[in-house]
Amino acid sequence: MRKFQRVNQPAFLVDRWEAWGVDWERRRSKNPSAKFNWPQFKGKPLNELLLPPLKEQTQEHCSFCDSFPVSPPSDDTIEHFRPKSSFPREACRWENLYFCCRHCQRKFEEFDEALLRPDADDYDFDQYFRWDYTQGTIEINEHASVENRNYSASWGARASRPHPSASRRRNFPIHLNSYGKSKAGGSDHPALPT
Ligand SMILES: [Zn+2]
Repeated sequence: MRKFQRVNQPAFLVDRWEAWGVDWERRRSKNPSAKFNWPQFKGKPLNELLLPPLKEQTQEHCSFCDSFPVSPPSDDTIEHFRPKSSFPREACRWENLYFCCRHCQRKFEEFDEALLRPDADDYDFDQYFRWDYTQGTIEINEHASVENRNYSASWGARASRPHPSASRRRNFPIHLNSYGKSKAGGSDHPALPT
């Protein structure tokens, strides 16, 4: 789970996300089994409009497991960090939305406010995870403090995928390099096997 910096929300969302959340909350309270539908804006569903800027800020990598490319296109999904069932008002809140692959979209654990967010100011990859250069996977950092290992274990099922694609492995050095820019000496990573 690579750290990223969240960009500003699209202008059309600023004045609307709260009202859309209230609408969804109302629908849900009337009918607890109501299905969430993205609201429409100018004739387009909101998720279609939000995917491009959400993908751009992670360079089209999944926000959680880092998989790239996330394909086929139908696998592009938007994850609600705070679940839209329990936090209906945040269903369209920019800071609650993450570009995510279908693997990570599956629910692995109960929602917990302490779950790691890749765009949190105090999130530091090395405190929780390590790259496995031979497999092209992200693993739990066994040298981390017990508390941090517990946090990363809660993301383990998301952060690590059993069969990284060849394209992901090819992109790994590029990814590492961009990650290393923010860290002293971060660019001298060993090369990946091809
Ligand atoms: Zn993923």
